Amino acid sequence: MDYVLTVDSLSKHYKQFKALSDLTMRVPKGAIYGLIGKNGAGKTTLIRLICALQRPTGGSYALYGIPYDDAKIAQARRRMGAVVETASVYLNMTARENLKAQYRVLGLASFQGIDEILELVGLAHTGNKKAKDFSLGMRQRLGIAVALTGNPDFLVLDEPINGLDPQGIVEIRELVLRLNREKRITVLISSHYLDELSRLATHYGFIDKGRVIEEISAEALESACRKCMRVEVSDMKAFERVMDEMKLEYKTVDATTADVFAKVNITRFVTALSRAGCEVLSLQQRDESLESYYMNIVGGERHA
Ligand code: ATP
Repeated sequence: MDYVLTVDSLSKHYKQFKALSDLTMRVPKGAIYGLIGKNGAGKTTLIRLICALQRPTGGSYALYGIPYDDAKIAQARRRMGAVVETASVYLNMTARENLKAQYRVLGLASFQGIDEILELVGLAHTGNKKAKDFSLGMRQRLGIAVALTGNPDFLVLDEPINGLDPQGIVEIRELVLRLNREKRITVLISSHYLDELSRLATHYGFIDKGRVIEEISAEALESACRKCMRVEVSDMKAFERVMDEMKLEYKTVDATTADVFAKVNITRFVTALSRAGCEVLSLQQRDESLESYYMNIVGGERHA
């Protein structure tokens, strides 16, 4: 498989504190790679390192197969665009002026392509409006537009939906999908909004305490997120006793609700509970969510 980014045993220490330790990951060409982790897991640190905003303490990474400390890395970096933390745009400029400024920074010979980028990110009709009067979502899309100058085929987005309203989130999602599908841009996107990432990602890297603890394709994840049955019961203690007796795997959701991870005969199941004095108030089939899969691998509670 072709990889746009490979990271091997990367570490970043701040004095004694290990923000990243031994982090290894692979971003396949053409992927939308969702980097998922809680606040403080190390997402921004990783992204800052691969964007050369900081130097690693140890380990290495390569872009398009070129190690980060190789003289040819500058060439590979030109194929990469990034929005790290907040979109870096000039607030006193219009969308078009921002793109022109970035074209100048990159030393591009003409302003060709600006209209196409503005159209792509949905800012073609913003005219004389300055970025300071944009909504947060528009600013975020302008940040992405700036990152798209120079025609990168790898886009890195650090928490792009943070603070956005539902419509802003949908717009970013649709833009990322369009860039990936129509422009064939590989995307690395970090977030702690699991459900949102699950609408986009073709691959996932779960990051916790500075390490990628699991990498999995969306396809493999879908089959790993097992079907379960959500039950609402009148007596959780009795329910737990019966589940243990029947050796059924379950996870308590709240005082009256639990997920059961097994294919069961419903009549037997309800009868056994009823005999123990526990009524089944409701019962529905559902997929284990990405969130509970994640909680599982980072050490959530589950009774087996
Ligand atoms: P968030 O979603 O909150 O931004 P994150 O996953 O992006 O979280 P990072 O910003 O990468 O996490 O931070 C990882 C850890 O490294 C945190 O505990 C943070 O406090 C610490 N850290 C980051 N930068 C520094 C620094 N310059 N000096 C000391 N510690 C730092």
